[in-house]
Amino acid sequence: MPVYTAPLRDMSFVLKEIIGIDKITAIKNYQDLSEDLIEAVLTEGARFTENVLHPINLSGDKEGCQWDNGNVRTPKGFKEAYNEYTKGGWAALSADPEYGGQGLPSIVALLFEEMICSANVAFGLYPGLTRGAYAMLHNHGSDALKTKYLPKMVEGTWSGTMCLTESHCGTDLGLLRTKAESQADGTYKLTGTKIFISSGEHDLTENILHFVIARTPEAVSGVKGISLFLVPKFMVNDDGSLGARNPVTCASIEHKMGIKASSTCVMNFDGATGFLVGELYHGIQNMFTMMNTERLGVGVQGLGIAEIAWQNALIYARERLQGRALTGAKQPEKIADPLMCHPDIRRMLLTMKSLIEGNRMLVAWIAINVDRMEQGETSEIRQEAEDLVQLMTPIIKAFMTDTGSEITNFAMQIYGGHGYIQETGVEQFVRDARIAQIYEGANGIQALDLIGRKLSANTGRYLRRFFHPVQEFVDQYSQDESLKEFVEPLAKALGRLQQVTMTIAQKSLVNPDEAGAAATDYLRLFALVTLAYLWCQAVIVAKNKIGQSEDDFYEAKIHTARFFMTKILPQSSSLFATIMAGSKPLMAMKDKLFGTGG
Ligand SMILES: Cc1cc2nc3c(=O)[nH]c(=O)nc-3n(C[C@H](O)[C@H](O)[C@H](O)COP(=O)(O)OP(=O)(O)OC[C@H]3O[C@@H](n4cnc5c(N)ncnc54)[C@H](O)[C@@H]3O)c2cc1C
Repeated sequence: MPVYTAPLRDMSFVLKEIIGIDKITAIKNYQDLSEDLIEAVLTEGARFTENVLHPINLSGDKEGCQWDNGNVRTPKGFKEAYNEYTKGGWAALSADPEYGGQGLPSIVALLFEEMICSANVAFGLYPGLTRGAYAMLHNHGSDALKTKYLPKMVEGTWSGTMCLTESHCGTDLGLLRTKAESQADGTYKLTGTKIFISSGEHDLTENILHFVIARTPEAVSGVKGISLFLVPKFMVNDDGSLGARNPVTCASIEHKMGIKASSTCVMNFDGATGFLVGELYHGIQNMFTMMNTERLGVGVQGLGIAEIAWQNALIYARERLQGRALTGAKQPEKIADPLMCHPDIRRMLLTMKSLIEGNRMLVAWIAINVDRMEQGETSEIRQEAEDLVQLMTPIIKAFMTDTGSEITNFAMQIYGGHGYIQETGVEQFVRDARIAQIYEGANGIQALDLIGRKLSANTGRYLRRFFHPVQEFVDQYSQDESLKEFVEPLAKALGRLQQVTMTIAQKSLVNPDEAGAAATDYLRLFALVTLAYLWCQAVIVAKNKIGQSEDDFYEAKIHTARFFMTKILPQSSSLFATIMAGSKPLMAMKDKLFGTGG
């Protein structure tokens, strides 16, 4: 059975030495926050995820969810774990104190989220969806809706869902058919069927609040005619008690490749009562608040699963004895050397380690900007932070889930056949990680969002929020000989990124397929440059610390950074080449020629 230990040491490094506690306390609402409190929360989070969530991960996967006449039973132990989750106040971590939240920074919440996703990602979906729903209602709901529903969501006794997808409408939400008809009392009656709804029905909470996008009869077609509604499973009386059952039911649940303990539901709305959230026809914009929160959360799913896969692969590589080191036996007294001695195994291990630690720095960097965006002192600070969050959201979602999947596959490769069979639990990581590349906007769509929307937004303002500080960093450190091996590759990769950005911007004015053809490679190139920038910062911290303590943590950081710069970042060169090759190799072949000879 796999093991899991929350990576508190690295989290502390990211919090204190990459971001800096002073940067957190510089935000008004967190002025009084102490380092001790943050540490206590994360330590307790580690205890909860290691001892409560992790032990039911494998069994949850085996048992899965069960549908019975509209009810859904989660696997054994999930209800008890969820009760402990709410009792421990985890649902309230970063929520607004006005509604019962603890008001802790997003950076703390996201690090805890990573632990949940390592320990039991399927469990994580239940509270994860609620957090997104909370953010959306908090931002766009009327005071009356907020007062009635938010405190219970913050408490965790009511959960949330995101009801977008229909059978004929996935990525293209403009096609949706679910109807919302206004009633004399100001409510709406919703009719239609949504599919693939995570946590649509389950036995963990007293009530389920569905956030549903639908179309009123007079609405224009396409996304501009979409509005957003809150449809509770049980109606809520004025005194907050639960009333009649609303006609929204779970017709079935999906049988799927991974996250089997998370219910994925077909939901029927048969004239169910709904309440408009925000203004009519602003449904997609409002839902985007939820989707953006979820996209960061889904990126963290990729990171979390990668972390547990890495931890177990490392143990295995140290223990499994196979073959001899190419340079002569390392452990001649044993029947063979550990896998760890083979360069190819080390390639996989270091790829995993450098991507995971890089991604963790990226999450922390964007999380502090989420807090600045919401609570920064001045409008300039808020705007700057929001621009960066907007730019980086598709990168976090797509890159961290792509690498999450790659890393779980590396873990399986290191385990060999023992990873492919069920006994070791490694194949579950591969299966659980895969969906994150698809839901919350498939990764190809994230790439289009980056290249199509984020690059040109506000005449390139989002982009400048990234390019300027990175260029300044390069200028500041390029003459430092001790950092040359790190800053020089960053500078080169940044140059490539800037050049392709200009080229795509120009070429796609003439031919929009140019942007579409470059999108996925461009997002990966952008992510690699971002990680290189963060790794350089880690090196600066580590170099200052080496020699001051016995701790070999910092030495490991420098080796890992060196690996990243020499073995991963050079991918920027091939990505540059494929992007510059343009759209012709993709688009010139006539459709009918695909499959010829098949
Ligand atoms: C386990 C699970 C849980 C889910 N949870 C939820 C949930 O809670 N709520 C919810 O509403 N939905 C949920 N979904 C649905 C999920 O978000 C969709 O599956 C996803 O958005 C993709 O839609 P689709 O499956 O219809 O694929 P399609 O839209 O048919 O897309 C298929 C492929 O084509 C690509 N593609 C589509 N359009 C374009 C384009 N214009 N340009 C380039 N490429 C394109 C996509 O990137 C994708 O790779 C869930 C799905 C699963 C499997």
